[in-house]
Amino acid sequence: MPILFKPIPAANRRIQAIVVGGGVMGASAAWHLSKAGAAVALIESAPGSLSTATSSSFGWVGASASTPSDNQSAFAERLKALAEFGSIERELGPLPIAARGALLWWSQEDETAAMIAEHRAAGTRMEGLVRAQITEKEQTLAKPPPLAAWAPDDFALEPAAFARQLLAGAQGLGTCLRQATVDAVDVVGNRVVGVVVQGQRLAADTVVLANGYGARALAWTAGVDLPLQQSPAVLLRFGTEAYGLRHLVCAQDLELRPSLAGGLVSAADYPENGDSGLSALAARTGDRIAHLFGLAVAPSPVAINAAQRPMTADGKPLCGPVGEIEGLFALVAHPGVILAPLLGRLCAESVLDA
Ligand SMILES: Cc1cc2nc3c(=O)[nH]c(=O)nc-3n(C[C@H](O)[C@H](O)[C@H](O)COP(=O)(O)OP(=O)(O)OC[C@H]3O[C@@H](n4cnc5c(N)ncnc54)[C@H](O)[C@@H]3O)c2cc1C
Repeated sequence: MPILFKPIPAANRRIQAIVVGGGVMGASAAWHLSKAGAAVALIESAPGSLSTATSSSFGWVGASASTPSDNQSAFAERLKALAEFGSIERELGPLPIAARGALLWWSQEDETAAMIAEHRAAGTRMEGLVRAQITEKEQTLAKPPPLAAWAPDDFALEPAAFARQLLAGAQGLGTCLRQATVDAVDVVGNRVVGVVVQGQRLAADTVVLANGYGARALAWTAGVDLPLQQSPAVLLRFGTEAYGLRHLVCAQDLELRPSLAGGLVSAADYPENGDSGLSALAARTGDRIAHLFGLAVAPSPVAINAAQRPMTADGKPLCGPVGEIEGLFALVAHPGVILAPLLGRLCAESVLDA
């Protein structure tokens, strides 16, 4: 039997957990489980891949991209999730934050005013800024709107770097990282006994499926049907010039933020006509950036990444035991960067309580 877990003496080594997937969800689960004293091995098939949801994510963390009237419980969950980032920063050091604070506006001023009113009624710190105040925040906007919402608690971080930070934290606490593709969950009777990798059985008493949409196929190997689906979205990276942008901006049809590596990052819906619509999307986004900053020439993206976002069919997170199989857990939710710190902790707690 291959050695998978580090033989580190600790209080809670009664649990030997395999976490499948090294995106932001798996990284958070591994860190929280390791903190709780479990012996953890994280198995990731493609470390550093640019095609995962985490590596293509925009990284907006905050509640202002949603409204309470859309979905009260999802909104409340995002607010709760925000609080977790502070504790991670205290334990693992500065987060890879690219921008703090978000400015949002719609084409109609009354829509922006209604959004601000709704958020304030829900208890967030969102406030309305008039043109002069917007210019103080963002000095390079060509035509600031008459009214924008200012969300001081929102921020954007670099999701892949954040996942690496959590993984490094987990490794520091004894988590073993292994590059491999998990082919099946290994079950005896109604109990998990590990996973199968290239025909080899790796033993564990707990398996956390945190491999996005791939969790569906793996759970199925244990006879469990997970209600997962996926939805594509596009991340566009623009050069090294940020045109003075300092915050997150959500201006009508443009989501934009500076990147820690320099340049700008924008997220967009996947084109209805598929990959063939990506170049038109890139041109449209470049035009919107040019309009925002009054540029004579629209910038062209240096990278366009379309990736699938794992989601549940009813929008509620999968976070805890699944099916009737003892020791089998899943951790899949959208929006995953916002929710990973909170759900990783809750998932670890449900493993420890089981
Ligand atoms: C363009 C875009 C913008 C987004 N913007 C935001 C945002 O602003 N805020 C926000 O909160 N969320 C956002 N999201 C969503 C967010 O990125 C995802 O919800 C989150 O990254 C999902 O993380 P994950 O760890 O569940 O999945 P993933 O990042 O996909 O990680 C799953 C991992 O599992 C591995 N894996 C799969 N199968 C196996 C196997 N059998 N064995 C071993 N490893 C396996 C994969 O290689 C992958 O690394 C955005 C997504 C996209 C695409």
